[in-house]
Amino acid sequence: MHLKRLGMSGFKSFADRTELEFPPGVTTVVGPNGSGKSNVTDGIRWVLGEQSAKSLRGSSMQDVIFSGSDGRKPVGYCEVSITFDNSDHQLNLDYSEVTVSRRVYRSGDSEFYINKQACRLKDIHELFMDTGIGKDAYSMIGQGRIDEILSTKSEDRRAIFEEAAGIVKFKSRKKEAERKLDATEQNLSRIQDLVLELE
Ligand code: ATP
Repeated sequence: MHLKRLGMSGFKSFADRTELEFPPGVTTVVGPNGSGKSNVTDGIRWVLGEQSAKSLRGSSMQDVIFSGSDGRKPVGYCEVSITFDNSDHQLNLDYSEVTVSRRVYRSGDSEFYINKQACRLKDIHELFMDTGIGKDAYSMIGQGRIDEILSTKSEDRRAIFEEAAGIVKFKSRKKEAERKLDATEQNLSRIQDLVLELE
């Protein structure tokens, strides 16, 4: 799947609206130390649903909002948008281009959108399931992650192969179905108790 564009506004060092285009052939982002290269990858992980401030190199989620610089005031919210080419419909949506956006305010309020339609974080996770794209998916290998992958438990390593094999979606649906089944069994046993009481 081709990442076409990344837009950031008020995110970390990107105080102004910044659009990065990734036409076919662009494979690398270069820049001097401290110029914001890692902030670009943080932006990608954040918009795809990263919930851990620590893995975005901050101590709270509000740390992703531009905190001001010499001669520049902090901003009140930040937004990141990521656009993928979906002409092959790998993402289960009837659009040839899919844009996912996330916005967070200093108050802590957070919003997610898929093609400008407000949605839940869960919808974003489900949209990218089994595509290899996502905050922890194998298309995002952060610094030190290779060592982590090699030294991690075999069951954890297995998760990477399961995502590549495209079975995460089914495992997640199975889990949800089992949860519903459990709830239904509990309801049934409550009803049986009531019936016994009434008899
Ligand atoms: P290196 O090559 O050294 O790894 P880099 O290009 O990856 O550097 P980043 O780590 O992406 O650089 O960017 C660091 C810069 O981002 C620092 O100058 C830091 O002050 C700035 N920065 C991070 N968070 C914020 C924020 N919330 N508000 C303003 N600036 C921020």
